[in-house]
Amino acid sequence: MSTTQDFTGYTPTWCPGCGNHGIGMAIKTALIKLNHDPSSLFVVFGIGCSGNMSDFLNAYAINALHGRAIPNAIGAKLANHKMKAIVVAGDGDCYGEGGNHFIHACRGNFDITVIVHDNRVYGLTTGQAAPTAEKGYKSKSTPFGIIEECFNPLAAAISQGATFVAQTFSGDMNHMTKIIQKGILHKGFSLINILQPCITFNKINTFKFYLKNSYKLSEKYNPKDKNKAMEKANELNSIKFPLGVLYKENNRKNYCDYLPQLKNNVLIKNKKFSDCKLLLQDFS
Ligand code: SF4
Repeated sequence: MSTTQDFTGYTPTWCPGCGNHGIGMAIKTALIKLNHDPSSLFVVFGIGCSGNMSDFLNAYAINALHGRAIPNAIGAKLANHKMKAIVVAGDGDCYGEGGNHFIHACRGNFDITVIVHDNRVYGLTTGQAAPTAEKGYKSKSTPFGIIEECFNPLAAAISQGATFVAQTFSGDMNHMTKIIQKGILHKGFSLINILQPCITFNKINTFKFYLKNSYKLSEKYNPKDKNKAMEKANELNSIKFPLGVLYKENNRKNYCDYLPQLKNNVLIKNKKFSDCKLLLQDFS
């Protein structure tokens, strides 16, 4: 069985006290609890403070172009659909630059787990407002306050076809670890939006703010009820943050299930697809 040490890369350079530290530890713990080791999964990182985790987490991993983590994970999944593929990105990267990919990955119900560090700012570039920042939020890039409504990732994912949609908080290690485990185990597109304070550039959405304004879904809550899930997702507009699995659909096929080419084996085991010369013969 792997240990935290096996998944540990370089020492994190995140600001002391940043919510990213907790998320990094929760991901490692969840992977260990699920009996993964660094060679049993593929992780695609976006660009941003969250993407810096590519140096701190020991696994097969790449840093994608800004906003392009999801299509890289989908490509890897098509090449080897038996491999677990995880995306770790920030709210700016995933919902801003990569918003189009995010929506269409939900539609395809691709079997990948997308973990989003939602701190409502672009922390790496010193605090510009990100898509999930609240209307009116003032930052270096929006000195008079944001005019647009904030992007609602939970409602977008549920409405566009994601089959597992959850939210958790980087100040609650146990909850976060359990939700990440559930998301990784899900067959289909899973979104885990993690409320993560950026202590350096976001002085509004702090640990204290989330402790005061979030609540855990009750044990009686039924995540199979799509209308209820949308209702919960829309509570974002009244600044109440539900924590837990908002939506889960078990019986929908994922994208790879529809491909006859993947029925008997993974694509990379097919000599034609792993040898460029053989592949190009078809076009000569
Ligand atoms: Fe964390 Fe913000 Fe520092 Fe980035 S800038 S490491 S998000 S506290």
